[in-house]
Amino acid sequence: MTATHTKDIDATVEQISALVEAGADVVRVAVDSSKDAEALAEISRQVSANLAVDLQENYRLAEVIAPFVSKLRYNPGHLYHHEREKPWQEKVQYLADVAKEHDCAMRVGVNCGSVDPAKKERYDVDDSISPMLESALDHCGFLDDIGFTRYCVSLKDSDPKKVIEVNTRFASSRPDIPLHLGVTEAGMPPDGVIKTRIAFEQLISKGIGDTIRVSLTVPSSRKPEEIEAGRQILTDIAAGRVRSVVDFGLESLNIISCPSCSRVENEAFIDLAQQVKEMTKYAQDHAVTIAVMGCRVNGPGETDDADLGLWCGPKFVNLKKGPKELGAYSYDAILDRLREELDAIIEEKTTA
Ligand code: SF4
Repeated sequence: MTATHTKDIDATVEQISALVEAGADVVRVAVDSSKDAEALAEISRQVSANLAVDLQENYRLAEVIAPFVSKLRYNPGHLYHHEREKPWQEKVQYLADVAKEHDCAMRVGVNCGSVDPAKKERYDVDDSISPMLESALDHCGFLDDIGFTRYCVSLKDSDPKKVIEVNTRFASSRPDIPLHLGVTEAGMPPDGVIKTRIAFEQLISKGIGDTIRVSLTVPSSRKPEEIEAGRQILTDIAAGRVRSVVDFGLESLNIISCPSCSRVENEAFIDLAQQVKEMTKYAQDHAVTIAVMGCRVNGPGETDDADLGLWCGPKFVNLKKGPKELGAYSYDAILDRLREELDAIIEEKTTA
């Protein structure tokens, strides 16, 4: 996926070309505005790559974008944000109609941090797998009913164990549907590569998965590293070099961070993620999860499940403890504030 601002046509074309050169078969681009959509039209003229577009809450942009891409990705959990009075089926019907008209495939992209709230309510708070699974199965059932067949599904989580479980369960219910695999917000290398490897090894060696994406928090210029990491994992699996076991645990400090994309609101986000990793080394032996996200689109929701969450705005970093907001702090002040909260959590856990 590109991490440039989509409306910066030259930078985005350059990054798509670098990703294709590294071996990407499909390159995803984020489109959040009509300016991005206009830029995409020009970008598509300058590159030969298969382009996929990421429709977050702006699903209505589909008809503007579809002529220029091969695939539309939508997230069932995002279809609830706008036009709430409209049932999701109507929105998906619209997307399927647009996709058909322009010969596009679709991906139903379910993400752990933005699951349909109605699905979450039906299950125990500790069960994050069933709402994701049910959401995907409902959308597949609907697409089948309306006769739309050119679609795949992804079920992503930042915890590789959950990625293995949810994809295994989906594959046993709907083995006919292609699965796109990925560990979302896997974080910085090498940890991000290790988490991804664990999930891919366990799934692909059992024949589950049709396409992959490696998501790493790296500066925009280093995005081809995601492709290189994916290729190495696939090569190792094909050669029987499978290193992980299913029964692993995240019993130590776990830092998850988004891979960054065109929505990043301050480039300092990448450095901040690295600084968080360095600063928190002293807490390595404590089972605490810290999430660092690059924007307001996914940041607020996708930090809810972490012990401490940071989502980065243009000038301030928003700090959360679980779903509770603790305040917004400057990029200079956030590390000290984070350390205070981390120390308090460690104290709570050790005295509990
Ligand atoms: Fe992009 Fe925001 Fe997701 Fe990070 S959290 S990958 S910046 S949409």
